[in-house]
Amino acid sequence: MTPLYEPQAFIDGRWIDAADGRRFAINDPADGSHVADVADCGADDADAAIAAASAALPGWRARTAADRAQLLHRWHALIIDNIDALAELLTREMGKPLAEAAGEIRYGASFIQWFAEEARRSYGETIPSPWPSARIVTTRQPVGVVAAITPWNFPVAMVTRKAAPALAAGCTMVLKPAEDTPLSSLALAELAHRAGIPAGVFNVVPTARAALVGDRLLDSADVRKISFTGSTETGRKLLARAAATVKRASMELGGNAPFIVFDDADLEAAVEGAIASKYRNAGQTCVCANRFLVQHGIHDRFVARLIERTRELKVGPGTAPDTAIGPLINQRAIEKVEALLGASVDAGAQIALGGARHVRGELFFEPTVVTDVTAAMPLWSDEIFGPVASILRFDTEAEAVALANATPFGLAAYFYTADLGRAWRVGEALEFGMVGINEGMLSTEVAPFGGLKQSGYGREGSSHGLNEYLDIKYMLMGGLAPKGDVA
Ligand code: ADP
Repeated sequence: MTPLYEPQAFIDGRWIDAADGRRFAINDPADGSHVADVADCGADDADAAIAAASAALPGWRARTAADRAQLLHRWHALIIDNIDALAELLTREMGKPLAEAAGEIRYGASFIQWFAEEARRSYGETIPSPWPSARIVTTRQPVGVVAAITPWNFPVAMVTRKAAPALAAGCTMVLKPAEDTPLSSLALAELAHRAGIPAGVFNVVPTARAALVGDRLLDSADVRKISFTGSTETGRKLLARAAATVKRASMELGGNAPFIVFDDADLEAAVEGAIASKYRNAGQTCVCANRFLVQHGIHDRFVARLIERTRELKVGPGTAPDTAIGPLINQRAIEKVEALLGASVDAGAQIALGGARHVRGELFFEPTVVTDVTAAMPLWSDEIFGPVASILRFDTEAEAVALANATPFGLAAYFYTADLGRAWRVGEALEFGMVGINEGMLSTEVAPFGGLKQSGYGREGSSHGLNEYLDIKYMLMGGLAPKGDVA
């Protein structure tokens, strides 16, 4: 069997080295072992990928939606056929437990299936004309060449969430994956190729020189759209740069998710939701519960039960079958968790469980529960991106909603209540793009994923996801009045 990827760039249907021959190392976060040396693409390689995507565009766009859908269905099937090998690769480069990696791949693949189906339903409309001699129709057309820049925390799903709707719509793509995790996206490219997706339609340029390649993609007038998932800080920079060529943009940026537990909540359900929302991917997701707000009447019972359940989570390498929490991605990540925790403890927060690096190794952190957190602490205002549950006690519904909304971010929010009126009131009052009510996980390909405020804009998944890659064209058909006699 040929390998799932080559440690190179994938441009115009071929594996190639960086033009200047540079490479960079990918290491396993669980033990620091060397995984691969990958082509470190530069400006020339970015240009070559843009040229390939531009050349492939007319042919790809001209195919019928059904034709493109058939190739996407094949890509989806090949990903599922290779799920074990893909999961192993994902865990090696990123660290998450194997079962979570397989879950991510199924979730990632579901976008390809979904958008293969959606491609056939990108309907236009007819609009009643204000002129008797004219008719108005709208059609949807692919925006063109798309640049995608993705993060390391979901090396497969963040790619397919962009590539699937783009390709389904008839766009071609240049992907710059995160420098920590380029291998999974190269494997996706290989499988797309095997599925029969034509050369130049999906190109991958791995690089350790993110800004160099990113600038090239953003400055090119041939690239008509940027789709980015990552930090708000980087998103802001990319948006500013994209302004020069007035690109369309989808921005899925940072979050600071509140997780509110009201007195009337089902305690067990709230704790299970909290465990899933907080500790999945070792707390490294943009929709992870970042701030627990727990009402005074249930507070102590919630904290006690959360500690009990958190204690059961096994820390270890993702490859061990019983691991629930793997390593963090890199030194920077673990230092950030330590800094936020340290500053908050200095300000009066209490560590109820964990609170330090784990004996398993350098990048492992103990699952941690912190109480007596206040809105003035860094654990509250910053995205933790680690396995630390920080808990604040509140009294009233109005107070909880005000605290939850007092952030520049607006991605996901969660709350637990048995009161139907409160469910609607709070659901509508929360200034977040996604709200989980009595559920701690809400991602699915059939629902629109995306944020408000400085968490960005645009939606991924659902029927809305396709429109991110389609331009509306209005056509006026005039001169319809009869000329002379009409028999
Ligand atoms: P983090 O590294 O904290 O996950 P980032 O937003 O920095 O968040 O990274 C997300 C993606 O953005 C990665 O693929 C990274 O390489 C890329 N990136 C970071 N800085 C730039 C930049 N200046 N230009 C283009 N891409 C960038």
